[in-house]
Amino acid sequence: MRTNFKTYQIHQSIVQMVFYSPGRTSSYPEEPPTKGYRYHYLGGGNEVGNVGVVLEDQKQTRLLLDYGLAPTTPPRYPSEAPEVRDAVITHSHVDHLGMAPWLCANHRTRLHGTALTAEISELMWYDCHKVSSIEKYPLAWDKRDIDTALESWNIHRFKETWMHEDWKLELHRAGHIPGAAMLNIETPDRKILFSGDFDTRDSPLTKGAEPVKTDTLFLEGTYGGREHPPLQEEEMRFIHHVQRVVDRGGKILIPAFANGRTQDIVMRLHKHLPHLDVHVDGMGKRIAKMQMNHPETLRDVQAFKDAWSWSRRVSSKSDRKKALDADVIVSTSGMMQGGPAIWYLNRLRHDTANAILFTGYQAEKTGGRKLQTEGKVNIFGNETEIPLEWKSYSFSTHAGHKEIVDFAAACEAEEVVIYHTDPKNARPPLVEALEKNGHIVHNPVNGVSEYLGEEYSRSN
Ligand SMILES: [Zn+2]
Ligand SMILES: [Zn+2]
Repeated sequence: MRTNFKTYQIHQSIVQMVFYSPGRTSSYPEEPPTKGYRYHYLGGGNEVGNVGVVLEDQKQTRLLLDYGLAPTTPPRYPSEAPEVRDAVITHSHVDHLGMAPWLCANHRTRLHGTALTAEISELMWYDCHKVSSIEKYPLAWDKRDIDTALESWNIHRFKETWMHEDWKLELHRAGHIPGAAMLNIETPDRKILFSGDFDTRDSPLTKGAEPVKTDTLFLEGTYGGREHPPLQEEEMRFIHHVQRVVDRGGKILIPAFANGRTQDIVMRLHKHLPHLDVHVDGMGKRIAKMQMNHPETLRDVQAFKDAWSWSRRVSSKSDRKKALDADVIVSTSGMMQGGPAIWYLNRLRHDTANAILFTGYQAEKTGGRKLQTEGKVNIFGNETEIPLEWKSYSFSTHAGHKEIVDFAAACEAEEVVIYHTDPKNARPPLVEALEKNGHIVHNPVNGVSEYLGEEYSRSN
């Protein structure tokens, strides 16, 4: 039976499946494109995450790029996708693939992506399902749909070409996290590059993205208007901080996202502080194993393997107790929303020699943000004072403002569509810098169709 869902403003206390309603609920137009190439953001056009964009030409060749959700409180979902035979999933973060099980169950859509993205997707979907039941937010798909989605994967290597009607498709490395890809499309009359989440800078785990010459560049603008600190300097500030805390007899808790950040942090610690005792807990352990199965996605396989076997993985309750004697504990969840990080925090909070070092953005209404703004965290239902030193370090693997602008120039893109961005603060400085460089800039809005090509975009 075909089901639909609606992006209602969901009140947290409503737990029934408010998504499902009879009739058509997609923002996608029913009429085919009248000219050139039409794109339409179901989500992620003028917001960070929650990505889904449909690209369609006059011959009605249609492709969906990503289909995620934003795990905010409450979560945000893209508009219902129209019938699509094929979707390309750029990488295994939930804001890019969280709604794919719905897609496969309802439209029998084939998913295209790298082998590692496909392998990690299973973990991400199960985790997404688990979190939705714990936090009581509705999800438009159930566990059986995960099986359908897993059977829907079509795997592609980087730079291997496949045809989608008369469009030539190719995945290129995007940096960001292992397995992350940009999609390069060559139609008979236009080149289109879709960045996904990307970074041109190398991280310990991955090599940065390289430019591809294109006509139209769909570019993520998460960090528009913000520059990253020089990576090496930030790394050394972080390393010195860890050593300072250890020297005073303290232990360090590093809340880290499972998919990319956990492994990057372990590699940094191994490189500079090999004398320390570092324990790793959470979903990052399973993801590391998967990453090792796909060495083609890694910058330095041996360095990763060495770092990983040097760290001690927590795999039982007694391991967890032992980890309390370690110098450093790296653990999910990255925003202190549950996970073993909370268990450790509850033990470590009693000794003010200890410290918490954040290595990623702490979203609103998360445990991490509450600690940073109020000095408190909700631990097992109790609001608890955390009298520990804390500091944030910037190890983002999204391109910063300069990297974004330089990348567009290096791709020689005639037009740039800036998405996955905050339209108030991040997008305006990007638009200004890109227009100054001579690019035609598009500012997509969710639910509004636009056309590519100079001759069309000027009149729109
Ligand atoms: Zn994203
Ligand atoms: Zn991402």
